[in-house]
Amino acid sequence: MIASRRQSLKHGPGRLVVDGRDQTVTRKAQFAFRPSRRQERELHTLLRVCREVYNAALQERRDAYRLAGETIRWQHQFNQIKHLKGVRDDALAYGIQPLRGAIMRCDEAMQAFFDRIKHGETPGFPRFKGAQRFNTACWDEPTSWKLRDDRRTLYIQGVGDIRLPKSAARQVGRMLGKGGRPVTLTVTRRRSGPRHLSRWVWRATVAFNDVAVEPTTPSEGEGSLVGADRGIKVTLATSSGEMLTMPRYVAAQREHLAELERAQARCVKFSREWKRLGRQIARGRRKAANQVDNWAREQAATLVGGFGILAVEDLELRNMTRSARGTVEEPGSKVAQKQGLNRELQDAALGKLTIRICVKAESAGRRVWMVNPSNTSRACSQCSHTDRANRPDQATFSCTACGYEANADLNAAANIADRGRTAETDWKVAGAPSLPRRKSRRRPRTDTELTQAA
Ligand SMILES: [Zn+2]
Repeated sequence: MIASRRQSLKHGPGRLVVDGRDQTVTRKAQFAFRPSRRQERELHTLLRVCREVYNAALQERRDAYRLAGETIRWQHQFNQIKHLKGVRDDALAYGIQPLRGAIMRCDEAMQAFFDRIKHGETPGFPRFKGAQRFNTACWDEPTSWKLRDDRRTLYIQGVGDIRLPKSAARQVGRMLGKGGRPVTLTVTRRRSGPRHLSRWVWRATVAFNDVAVEPTTPSEGEGSLVGADRGIKVTLATSSGEMLTMPRYVAAQREHLAELERAQARCVKFSREWKRLGRQIARGRRKAANQVDNWAREQAATLVGGFGILAVEDLELRNMTRSARGTVEEPGSKVAQKQGLNRELQDAALGKLTIRICVKAESAGRRVWMVNPSNTSRACSQCSHTDRANRPDQATFSCTACGYEANADLNAAANIADRGRTAETDWKVAGAPSLPRRKSRRRPRTDTELTQAA
């Protein structure tokens, strides 16, 4: 498991987030698929029904909150689904799972709203979703859908058997081959191509529990530890002396995007040209995000392949968690544009790198420490003298006490490795405790509910 801030274990200057003791992990298969014409019609109808449920659930919560100051719980709304029987059998044709999924999404939106209030941010009440803005259906339990035994057919209730493309079947087969048990399904649609030729692109994500891990031996030995420092110029510097910089193509994409955004700003809002540019920008962003993700995967694989213990800075990266502001792939409206694309992609890369390191470490049996990042760039890695003057410019580190000179990023990486080592020692002194395993949040369904809804 990858521990959240709350679940992690504090030892010395670090938090243990991956303890490398999992036998099985949760993994996702993500793939595009092409439904038949009839299946596509059904999928569109399914999304319309889910949207209706989402909006109805939101309406009820809005009224309850505005008129009575009350909060309605999802359990209550789940129970209402059964009343659709005989009234809206068309909605129930897809089973109750996707309808519950819509209610849970509404619940998440409300939770995010209350969180924003709690943190003193602009609350912004969750909005009703128009047809253009509701493109995802989710099944939080393995009912109303399944992967057929041939491992290349996805069955969805009310839609039918969807033949998966080869690459998807391979992904699914790999998960099943490692003992994976399919638990949740998400289906998303997106329009693609120029307007008069556009078609729908369908994607599915299947999450598997109980996927067996494949422990490997790090090339530098079991006890080897590496510290990694994020930077602005050098994206990642490691205590083993490597400096990794995100490749230029991302920068090129960035400049191209910035240009498109300036062009769009000059257009009449909602004009044909404005929309065209909008689509182009969305495409470019997706591309840049994919490139960043691929890069992060590669670097993480290298680091995890080499070392037994990994130490990274404990940073509050907005992109590490899904937030109301959106992610790079699906930005919240306009917020992203205001914050400079440059920093955004940089942050995304660092966030993704951290996540990828954790994910890879989890299945390779490594430990990951998130260490306190304060003063890592100002302290001397040789004598630990800490002074702002130690860093005369962005690239150089020059200790005013002992005279040690080094590249500033490498010095910081060495400090991070030191903190990781201290944390590791403290942890071992404490008896090397395991991370607490979290319980599933999914609610088991009773038989009576099944029969009532069927
Ligand atoms: Zn020094």
